[in-house]
Amino acid sequence: MEIVDLPHTRAPEELLHKHFGYHNFRPLQREAIDHVLDGKDAVILMPTGGGKSLCFQIPALALDGITLVVSPLIALMKDQVQALQANGIAAAFLNSTLTYDEEQLLWQDLRNGALKLLYVSPERIFSQGFLDAIAQLPLRLIAIDEAHCISNWGHHFRPEYKRLHILKERFPEVPVVALTATADAAVRSDIGELLGLRTPRLFIASFDRPNLSLAVLPGQKKSAQLGRILAKHNGQCGIIYCQSRKSCEQLAERIRAMGIRAAHYHAGMEPQERSTVQDEFIQGRCHVICATIAFGMGIDKSDVRFVIHWNMPGSVESYYQEIGRAGRDGKPAETILFYSYADVQRQLHFIDEVQDERYRAMQMAKLERMKDFAEAGTCRRKMLLSYFSEMPADDCGNCDVCKDPPKWFDGTQCAQMALSAVARSRGSLPVGTLVDVLKGTRSAAVQERQLNLLQTFGVGASISEFVWQLHIQQFIQQGLLTIDYKDNYHLKLTPHANEVLFKGRTVRLVSFETIKERQDAQKQMHTKEADRVAEPTDAGLFDRLKALRSKLAKALGKPAYIVFSDAALLDMCTRKPATMSAFLQVNGVGEYKAEQFGEAFLEEIAGVVAAR
Ligand code: ADP
Ligand code: ZN
Repeated sequence: MEIVDLPHTRAPEELLHKHFGYHNFRPLQREAIDHVLDGKDAVILMPTGGGKSLCFQIPALALDGITLVVSPLIALMKDQVQALQANGIAAAFLNSTLTYDEEQLLWQDLRNGALKLLYVSPERIFSQGFLDAIAQLPLRLIAIDEAHCISNWGHHFRPEYKRLHILKERFPEVPVVALTATADAAVRSDIGELLGLRTPRLFIASFDRPNLSLAVLPGQKKSAQLGRILAKHNGQCGIIYCQSRKSCEQLAERIRAMGIRAAHYHAGMEPQERSTVQDEFIQGRCHVICATIAFGMGIDKSDVRFVIHWNMPGSVESYYQEIGRAGRDGKPAETILFYSYADVQRQLHFIDEVQDERYRAMQMAKLERMKDFAEAGTCRRKMLLSYFSEMPADDCGNCDVCKDPPKWFDGTQCAQMALSAVARSRGSLPVGTLVDVLKGTRSAAVQERQLNLLQTFGVGASISEFVWQLHIQQFIQQGLLTIDYKDNYHLKLTPHANEVLFKGRTVRLVSFETIKERQDAQKQMHTKEADRVAEPTDAGLFDRLKALRSKLAKALGKPAYIVFSDAALLDMCTRKPATMSAFLQVNGVGEYKAEQFGEAFLEEIAGVVAAR
């Protein structure tokens, strides 16, 4: 391959404005772009929605030649290529969905220099003749998207990614940029090493997403809580992550029964059905998606207003990536995690099945960190960011702990009741049965084992079942009780329990009031935010522009966001441009789109303004 050093005469800022219609780079984008344009390797770590793609797309436009982009999912490739083409950028993808003829045409375009970016699947890299064919082309840059797929430690491990070091071996002179949104320290070092990068520079953008509120709610009585949350978000889009396929289906069904447009999504569905659900959601016809982790990678929908975790994920990375799908437009969005010990047990159960000892220990450590987050008594965002090695100085003010710091009370007596019931049962009660005993409820489990004869039967009748569950959860968190998941999830005393029962140790509990206040506070907070979100500077105009956008998108057979993002429409409402040059000042309007859609939008805006 012939290599020539060409100065990149096209300034990144110019390209950013011309093609994407943006005025400024985000922190680190510019630095990363300069580094790549200098011909050096890089690992770029930015949260979902942080703007990773521009870090290779702008260099691709600045350089003469071709940029190869390795991307793990066909849907992801398709979306990115579609979005690039909509900005007038010559991009294409090569994967198993192309026919023989389409592929021949593609290679012809490549040889003619008609393409700037080529997206390929990792499998394709290793297919017959691919690398030889690429070597005939002026390859200038290689980007490896979702690079965490290379690591065994990540949760999206893809064996083909492990072999991608072949790219650096085959094209040692071509800079490689690896990008990901999910990488802890172990995965991060795997990426550089396994790809064979040469002293790559690490770019880590802040993982802080201050517009996302963080909250953890009790994982008991979830349905009632959900009803209230969904009522607040009436008409807005959100995702509910569930653990199992079946629970996705059931939950979606229940939500539809509330009169809300909801659907489920999981890997067990036919591809066609999945893509229909995804399209409906992206286009705003379906409001709530109940999904497993299969949903989300590569979904570019900026106005997701809430993400709920119906079950606790097994790691902070997964959690963070999933909540990251909310509020990508930078406007307030709400995230809620339902947390209960049952979820921890389920996760422990999965981990127990893992054969590899090192991997099991790793998963266990990850689960511990996730639990720490769910049980946090201090600012949750601080904890979250510390996981990604950031140390913010101040508390965030936008998490439930900051808004309603825990109120404590002396719970020694409650603890003694619960612990002595466990002692008297000789460690044979699961949480639910312990609550029955404390409340004096003659449930089937109680009757069957004559637990009503225990001395502690009914000692805690004045406390509600829900509150008992919250108390017991705290006894577990404080290390007074453990759940023996190998013995039918029965509660056992720990040595610390004896200190409470016999040695006068006191126990502090977070009062139920705190939980309740958090539930209520969130409700008020969100109503305010929802108003803000739904209030463009000119609501009438905004609706008209949205309708126009739908019409144009429909004519093109493309999703609406491909025409313009909500953010761009909102900016139009503020600026009310009357000329083409004013239209080009709108954030998110590049030259190509201005040419294609400018007149239609200018006319619509002029019409609305004149009618007033
Ligand atoms: P990621 O790949 O990191 O999840 P994307 O590259 O898809 O994020 O970018 C997320 C959104 O932010 C996109 O809509 C993109 O156009 C927008 N974006 C990226 N960089 C900028 C910028 N400098 N100014 C304004 N918007 C930007
Ligand atoms: Zn906080």
